[in-house]
Amino acid sequence: MPIPPNVLASDPADLELSPDAMRAMGEAVVHRAVAHLASLPEQPSRGDVDAAALCRTMREPAPEEGAPLDGLLDRLFDEWIPRSFTTTSPGYLAYIPGGGVYPAALADFIADTTNRYTGIWQAAPALVQLEANALEWLRDWMGFPATARGLFTTGGSMAMFNAIAAARERHLGPEIRRGTIYVSTQGHHCIAKAARLAGIAHDRVRSIPVDAAYRMQVDALAASIAADRAAGLEPFLVVSSAGTTNTGAVDPLDAIADLAAHEGMWHHVDGAYGAFFHAVPDLRPLLAGLPRADSLTLDPHKGMFLPYGTGALLVRDGEALRALHSSTAGYLPPNQDEFHDPAQYGPELSRGFPGLRVWLSLKLYGAARYRAAIAEKRALALWAADAVARIPGIVMDAAPQLSLFAFHMEGPGLGTLEAQNRATRDLMEQVTRRGKVMVTGAQVGERFLGRVCVLSFRTRRAEMETAVAHLREAAAAILAGARA
Ligand SMILES: *Cc1c(COP(=O)(O)O)cnc(C)c1O
Repeated sequence: MPIPPNVLASDPADLELSPDAMRAMGEAVVHRAVAHLASLPEQPSRGDVDAAALCRTMREPAPEEGAPLDGLLDRLFDEWIPRSFTTTSPGYLAYIPGGGVYPAALADFIADTTNRYTGIWQAAPALVQLEANALEWLRDWMGFPATARGLFTTGGSMAMFNAIAAARERHLGPEIRRGTIYVSTQGHHCIAKAARLAGIAHDRVRSIPVDAAYRMQVDALAASIAADRAAGLEPFLVVSSAGTTNTGAVDPLDAIADLAAHEGMWHHVDGAYGAFFHAVPDLRPLLAGLPRADSLTLDPHKGMFLPYGTGALLVRDGEALRALHSSTAGYLPPNQDEFHDPAQYGPELSRGFPGLRVWLSLKLYGAARYRAAIAEKRALALWAADAVARIPGIVMDAAPQLSLFAFHMEGPGLGTLEAQNRATRDLMEQVTRRGKVMVTGAQVGERFLGRVCVLSFRTRRAEMETAVAHLREAAAAILAGARA
């Protein structure tokens, strides 16, 4: 259906659209979006992001008059969306992928058009119950007890912020200056940001060394805690990683849980990348100890393949989360205890409806398909890591613990660390430039590591074969250049 020419009413104060206009506009958007998704395999894995000049030309004052939707969609889909990392691409193996399942977009559309108020239970009880169900499904997958409560956030970073604030509130109360936090050198940078937001300054965040597999050294952790206690400080929180972003390392969660329990400290596990592997019973041993955490970051926009905008936090003793956030106001209904109430467990009052995209995606696919897809991503990573380890010139630094592996280049003519770092950077760039897969590296200490992370639901065996072939060809070219 074409979009009617005059979708806007002649009365300038009337913003309502006719049913026909709404249908036509919706169909136009769905048509463009689905065509875009259908063309993903042909799109370059990284669009042309050399767009500073374009961005300068895009600056404009707020338009006085409205413009037709068609023209706006043309510019979005033809000019602006392609000039980005193609994070939806089946070949997206950079950073931590996810993909963005289509049902979540439908849920967002429903949530936005019906626009119900899910901040407090009384305003939309059945809808809030759907969100509560979705949180309980995550809780069960993670092996957390019935006392646990959760919160959907906009991402893993905001989950971390709420976790640190909850731990601080429980352990330090008003005495926050003496409190100290422990995280490995490989911990995500959002931990330091979240600590600062939660009132814990930089000089109270300790960086613990890692072993050869990039996992936190528990002895060093214990020593650091003891030193701080001796100095009169108050160690209250260990943040460990269930899959680091750099190399995919899983810290010794069980040993850290033991130490935290012995020390009377809160143990938060950052599972933004890796937690959803715990949804697959066969893979649980890889994350042994995870269910013992006091709190856990999950990122459904990674491991549940949702579009960006959904993280989650689980807190073992739900009362600790509630103690941080619960409050009342004369203009609100009184708090109730029987049902989940997002505003009592999170910092927001008015909010979107993040639970619906989680709920609808899971109801539509079912948990079995999710488990199959997650398990397949790990199997693909194991297969690819094995093949990449055999490529001449490539040395494996981190075999996949979950679905991420890291490596660097060595060889004749690449005798110095500097030359190896340059060659590894070049390897990532050459592979990405070929347009079929996108890979990124990470500076880890002195070394620049290449890495491959398999976590988009769209990534299947064919893309991994391409990735291995392109790594092999690019490595050969770089070695030939280094020898010459
Ligand atoms: C992605 C990630 C984060 C941050 O989560 P966002 O959703 O990007 O805010 C934190 N920790 C790890 C290990 C991650 O992979």
